[in-house]
Amino acid sequence: MRRVLTGITAASGMALGRARLEQPARFTIDTSLLSENEIEAEVARLGRAIEAAQAELIELRGKLRGALAREVGEFIDAHSLLLHDAELISGLRGMIRKGRYRAGAALKAQRDKLVAVFDAMDDPYLRSRREDVDHVIARVQSALARQASSEEKKLASRVGEILIADSVAPGELAHLSDHGILGVVSGSGSTYSHSAILARSMRLPMLVGVHNALADLRDGDLVLVDGERGEAVVHPTAQDLTRYRNWQREAAREGRRLAQLAQARTLTADDRELRLFVNAELPAEIAQARALGASGIGLYRSEFLFLKRDRLPSEEEQFEAYRDAVLGMGGLPVTFRTLDLGADKADATGLSLSAEPNPALGVRGVRLSLRRPAVFAMQLRAILRAACYGPVRILVPMVTDASEMAAVRTLINHCARDLRTEGHEIPDQFEIGAMVEVPAAAIGVRALLSVCDFLAIGTNDLAQYVLAADRNNDALGQLYDPLHPALLRLLARVIRAGNRAGKPVSLCGEIAGDPAFAPLLVALGLNDFSMHPGRILNMRDALSRCDSKALRELAPRIMRAGSRDEVAGLLLKQGG
Ligand code: PEP
Ligand code: MG
Repeated sequence: MRRVLTGITAASGMALGRARLEQPARFTIDTSLLSENEIEAEVARLGRAIEAAQAELIELRGKLRGALAREVGEFIDAHSLLLHDAELISGLRGMIRKGRYRAGAALKAQRDKLVAVFDAMDDPYLRSRREDVDHVIARVQSALARQASSEEKKLASRVGEILIADSVAPGELAHLSDHGILGVVSGSGSTYSHSAILARSMRLPMLVGVHNALADLRDGDLVLVDGERGEAVVHPTAQDLTRYRNWQREAAREGRRLAQLAQARTLTADDRELRLFVNAELPAEIAQARALGASGIGLYRSEFLFLKRDRLPSEEEQFEAYRDAVLGMGGLPVTFRTLDLGADKADATGLSLSAEPNPALGVRGVRLSLRRPAVFAMQLRAILRAACYGPVRILVPMVTDASEMAAVRTLINHCARDLRTEGHEIPDQFEIGAMVEVPAAAIGVRALLSVCDFLAIGTNDLAQYVLAADRNNDALGQLYDPLHPALLRLLARVIRAGNRAGKPVSLCGEIAGDPAFAPLLVALGLNDFSMHPGRILNMRDALSRCDSKALRELAPRIMRAGSRDEVAGLLLKQGG
């Protein structure tokens, strides 16, 4: 029977495939008792899971280098010790043999017992170690679950599927798309999340906020993800499939029309030239950027090199990726943003702090980099070495204060000096810029400009911080509004200050690639736009219809607007 689940489109397009449900990683504990003849097999199963968890820890430990090895290594050693604890292991075996517990249930019971002991301790440090118990037990539980889910493994290698999940982390999404996933239906999430950005970048149709997706679908159900309507159609009818085929034809036709704009200049209706840059995460996007006649890479999100793996990429690996990007752009500038981990870009390398009470306001972006100078220097060295191959700019994320830029500049100078001593050819000067995504940076833009060569406005984050609305929380969808007049005033302020100082200001948040925002951004005086390559032609097309002179005259009225509707009304009158 045909059913329609509604959500919000995070990445447009349509996809047809079979559903693959991914249940949240909560371990369902089977509390039924073992029969006599199952006991020894269960003891062996527990043994294998503990061994697998130990092997994981050894592997993880072996990959840590430098300061990280000291800091994180300590925790890993503590976890290893726990896994070797004779009392813990014999306790677990005893529960299986005498109590007929299943391994998962025995682990849970042991965990509860140990946690109670830790909780009763007076020493706050020892009390805090209960977290270690939780981590270790969770590791063994997940090793047990992996043994049980060979059926799931078979599914994992199947192509042509639509992922149905409660939420999807960016790293997971990249991995899944490599495995042939065609589209994503997510129960929660928002269109400004990093997963959504990545889905757009991979042209993976994605719906978010489809609240009952996991409950309403079964593995193998045929699903049509319709990013045009924000719907997932379960068991589509012949009519739906005709619509899908029409969409495919129409998308191909529109693609051909826009393709004619590929190498064109970007001119407004009154012939003002604008520059379109690309936000790149994947090597293929670099090639695309050139093919589309972009002015360069405006935002290279370097953290995606770190997200897909469980260890830090070496200086050499980073250098090769950065160098290839620079070579790929054939003389056009590449803006490398330094590592922006933290908040929803949690990594698997153990670099970002775990369990911060308020990660979006925590140690992310440059705050994390400055606390990990060895890791940061490794990245800066790789970028500086890549700068021998073409024009490179260095962009620093999550800057709050000019002093952070000064600290980064000092570190860059040290790295450059060391590299020269080692015999590398490093250019004399580097352009260093700050992302404006923290309200303090926007309000204090003049101080920031005095220590920067350029600025890049990150409206995805700036909007969430100005409006105090989490970009990943779909419940706040209405409040997270890039047309909010307070945000627009800040944007205008930053663009004006940059233009007056004669320093380039680009905008690289998602709205830079949204044709609906083109007239507004032209009205605010923006010259440089940076967006996903898939948006370049649509934006060039939309901007060609903007009359920049008339829109600029509208700017003071936009600044006085009291509501988003008033802003939208003004732009509509202008034909935007
Ligand atoms: C932004 O915040 O607008 C931005 C471009 O950075 P990211 O989306 O990677 O946080
Ligand atoms: Mg950001």
